[in-house]
Amino acid sequence: MSVDRRNSGASFEETPRIIVMDDEESIRLGCEKVLSREGFEVVAAADGSSGWELLQEQEFDLALIDLKMPGIDGMNILKLMNEHLPDVVAIVITGYASYETAVETVKLGAYDYIPKPFTPDELRNVVRRGLERRFLRLSNRRLLLDLTEERSRLMTILHAMSDGVLVANRRGELVLANSAGREWLDASAQTSEEEAPSLDYVVAVEEIRSITDRIAEDPHLEGCDEEIETEDGRFFHAAATAIRDEDSGYLGVVIVLRDITERREIEKMKSAFVRMVSHELRSPLAAVQGYLELLVDTDVDDAESDRMLRRCRSRVEALQQMINDLLDLSRLESGAVHRELRRQDVTQILEEVVELQRGAALERDIDIHLATEDSLEMVADRRELEEIFTNLISNAIKYNRDEGRVDVAAERDEYGIRVSVSDTGIGMKPEALESIFEEFFRVRSSQTASVTGTGLGLSIVKQIVDAYDGEIDVSSQPGEGSTFTVLLPVDSG
Ligand code: ADP
Repeated sequence: MSVDRRNSGASFEETPRIIVMDDEESIRLGCEKVLSREGFEVVAAADGSSGWELLQEQEFDLALIDLKMPGIDGMNILKLMNEHLPDVVAIVITGYASYETAVETVKLGAYDYIPKPFTPDELRNVVRRGLERRFLRLSNRRLLLDLTEERSRLMTILHAMSDGVLVANRRGELVLANSAGREWLDASAQTSEEEAPSLDYVVAVEEIRSITDRIAEDPHLEGCDEEIETEDGRFFHAAATAIRDEDSGYLGVVIVLRDITERREIEKMKSAFVRMVSHELRSPLAAVQGYLELLVDTDVDDAESDRMLRRCRSRVEALQQMINDLLDLSRLESGAVHRELRRQDVTQILEEVVELQRGAALERDIDIHLATEDSLEMVADRRELEEIFTNLISNAIKYNRDEGRVDVAAERDEYGIRVSVSDTGIGMKPEALESIFEEFFRVRSSQTASVTGTGLGLSIVKQIVDAYDGEIDVSSQPGEGSTFTVLLPVDSG
């Protein structure tokens, strides 16, 4: 005979150990013989005291205990085992089997009893049942431990999730909420501190109640999605799934809440940007189309057609400039620009940019002055530095008055290289200053109407300056002029 451990569900590698306590030598020897043949390890004790000592010293799976023994008797051994070794299965050997004895021994924790005299088969059977019970008990305990561990692992994961998880029962009461879910409820339910612990307060959030109600009422509804806006202007995506039993009976609902505020904002910005771009592209295209229609459909003299074609060309050039600026911007924003970082001489770059702009300045009798130290070096991409300075200096000319003045100055200070571009031009009102770094922002006034531009130059400048961890500032007085100051850390590249 052998104990079927597969059925017990436990996987005990070791040989079962059994102790036999009996003062009758023949019983001890008989038990040892029968049980050893089964592959068990058997230890025998001739009296209760030595038996109890052995039980304390060594590990046993099962004990066969004679009730009448010198030293500590069987009943007392049972009591001790019940108190100190409840996992060792106790089987009583008794010479006077009576119903009362049986009841008493079971009360004291014995699993079974075997009356003397017994056959080897009876012994094998009772021991096998006892061992099976022990394995079952141990494997149950292990399962329970595993379950507890699994549950606590699940709870840890649930609480660590950034998504909110709420579970409501069929009455709509909250039975589980992870940390993010509870935070959401606390912010949305607007219940007082005292009210919060109540299970009902989940239904205080109207949107959640409507989801749970809808699922509860429709037995075919597996789940539903909803976007919820909270009082403080945040947006959440709530995905609800019904929990049903095998007969489709409604048990409750699991709701997962995800904060989509940021995504919503990006979407809004994206569509605003697309609207702006389409709007900016439409007016020059409409102008070109208008001129072309006139040229095709009407008789215009050469001078007039020449004038129209020139206007078309300048509109198309402006469009091209806008598209190039947009591409620059998107490259900068996506970080896809390839920077060639080298030691650059800022003084030399400023000199070149000023020289290139001098022609445009001269056309309107504007003086450009450059004041800089001999050599100002920093690590940067040359093209990007040129882009910053060209934009600022060309704006200082474009938005200047005729016979005005532009001052470009560069110096090193403790934070890096500081370049300022001042003009004596039209200046800007304080409210315009808040928006000039936004894409497509242009001041609309009679003074700027004749100035061509895309409204993208300063956004590009700002993006580049940010990429170098630099700063850009502007001060301006309407009618007097503006000063743009850029600070670039020397080793930011
Ligand atoms: P653009 O010059 O192509 O319109 P920018 O992004 O360079 O675009 O500038 C945005 C707006 O800021 C300009 O349209 C103009 O109204 C204002 N601005 C920029 N620089 C100056 C300046 N130096 N003086 C006055 N206004 C300026």
